[in-house]
Amino acid sequence: LLIMGPPGAGKGTQAKILAEKYNLIHLSTGDILRREIKKKTAIGLEAQSYMNRGNLVPDNVLLSIMDSTLISLKDSGIILDGFPRTIIQAEKLSETLNEMSLVIDTVVDLVVDADEVINRLAGRSTCQDCGGMFHVQSCPPKVEGVCDNCGGNLAQRQDDNSETILKRLDVYQESTAPLKQFYKGQGNLKTVTARGSVEEIFSRVLEMVK
Ligand code: ADP
Ligand code: ZN
Repeated sequence: LLIMGPPGAGKGTQAKILAEKYNLIHLSTGDILRREIKKKTAIGLEAQSYMNRGNLVPDNVLLSIMDSTLISLKDSGIILDGFPRTIIQAEKLSETLNEMSLVIDTVVDLVVDADEVINRLAGRSTCQDCGGMFHVQSCPPKVEGVCDNCGGNLAQRQDDNSETILKRLDVYQESTAPLKQFYKGQGNLKTVTARGSVEEIFSRVLEMVK
C-alpha cells in the first residue's frame, strides 16, 4: 500500500494506525532518513542538508536504502509513506516489486489544501522518544514541551518552519504530484479527503483499502 499526499496531509499518522490495526510494516522514508541523521551516518550527513532546505534527497540515495529494505521485508505487508516521491523512484519501485513478484494493491492519495497544511505543520511538535505527535491547537500536550504518552521532550522538526514548509509544498507540486497520473494510469489510485479529525480521515481511508 502506498500513502501519498503533500507534507502535512497526515501520511505518517494514517499509516501508523493502519499498520497497527492490520499488522503491517510502516516504512516512512522521512523517519528512516531522520534516524540516519541522528546516528550521523554517511547517508544521514548527506541527506541533512537537503532536508533542512525542504529539498528532496537525491534519488540514488533513497533508492539504495529502499531497495535493500524492501528485499529484506519481502514476506510482509508494507505501507510505504513518503516513497516514491519522484517518477524515477516510482519506476524503480515498480521494477523492484516486479522482481520480487509483488504488486502495489492500492495507492491512497490524501488531499488537503495548502492553508491547512501550513497550519498543521507550523503548530506540530514530536516526542523525541516515542514519536508521538502533538499540535498547539488541535492536540496540545497536557504540559507544554512534554509528551503525554511517555514524558519525553517535544521538539519541532527542523523543516517545520514557514519558509521550509513553503519550499516543501513547491517541491511536492513539481516532483511528487505528477505521480498521481502515473498511478491513475495503473488503475489503483484512491483519493481521500484529508480534512477533519484523525478518526474521520481514517474511516475514509479504510473504505478505500478494505
Ligand atoms: P513530509 O512529507 O511532511 O515532508 P517526511 O518526513 O516524509 O515529511 O520527509 C521529510 C524530508 O525527507 C523531505 O522533505 C525530503 O527532504 C526527505 N525525503 C523523504 N522521503 C523522500 C524521498 N522518497 N525522496 C527524496 N527525499 C525524501
Ligand atoms: Zn513520547
